[in-house]
Amino acid sequence: MVNYQEILDAIYEKLQKRVDKGTVASYIPELADVPKEKFGIYLNRINGDDYFVGDWEEPFSIQSISKVLSFALAFSKLKNQVFRRLDVEPSGNPFNHLSLLEMENGIPRNPFINSGAIVIADMLISLLDDPKNDFLAFVRGITNDDTIQYNKVVAASEAETGYGNYAAANLLKSFGNLENEVERVLDFYFHQCSIEMNCQQLSNAFYLFANRGKCMQNTTHLTINQVKRINAIMLTCGFYDEAGEFAFEVGLPGKSGVGGGIVALLPNEFTLSCWSPGLNEKGNSYLGMLALEEFTTQTNLSIF
Ligand code: GLU
Repeated sequence: MVNYQEILDAIYEKLQKRVDKGTVASYIPELADVPKEKFGIYLNRINGDDYFVGDWEEPFSIQSISKVLSFALAFSKLKNQVFRRLDVEPSGNPFNHLSLLEMENGIPRNPFINSGAIVIADMLISLLDDPKNDFLAFVRGITNDDTIQYNKVVAASEAETGYGNYAAANLLKSFGNLENEVERVLDFYFHQCSIEMNCQQLSNAFYLFANRGKCMQNTTHLTINQVKRINAIMLTCGFYDEAGEFAFEVGLPGKSGVGGGIVALLPNEFTLSCWSPGLNEKGNSYLGMLALEEFTTQTNLSIF
């Protein structure tokens, strides 16, 4: 029997001691002040057992991790029509890269780079009656937690400084790949990125991707085939231009965000979330990557 709590405790003890904890993202001013010492891990097994250590109860900004949730909602509603407006190839470039978008005529490489998530935001605005409230209700529903909120201060902070995202949205609009106005689409996008969760909520939210489309309340939100596809995109595109490294070191589908969160999963087995706000040079949580690598190495649990 694997002693999960012992493994998590040992990983936490070892990594917490490291002097180098990476660099906290500062391009969104509101995120710059989060203390680098924060570090939490939460493991949620499909059989109902859970294990946790450190700052797992403390909410943080999920940022790009929200792109998986917005994509899941759009995919569940529009089915394969979503792929008319974006692709599913890794970009091999940072999350905010623009030149590929121009070369490829406004069709984003995948839904987890900024331009792809902005197209998904546009789809959701066209689809939902009350987009921001309906999306939040979806996130709360799959997590079974009505306390989850947007952080309006973080959303406003990003709106003030998000010049790259304005550039991406304008480029998409010029190629005819946005139906709604740039301001409206980015307002939705900045809000989805500002959602706050703790490690437990994040593991619970992603439970459906490890459980064939059923959330913890056993409600079906996605088909098995849709879950297969979402997990495949997480594996190939979930870690900016470090997706290959993450697959190589950790061997699980997952998604990271510049708030320092990472969530990864092993289908039919578990979801595992880490939060440590210091990032490596590719924008992924420095301790989070190391913690996940240690976990899959010590337990021999990966998709490979
Ligand atoms: N809101 C951030 C941005 O668009 C998300 C980036 C991220 O977490 O990768 O720049």
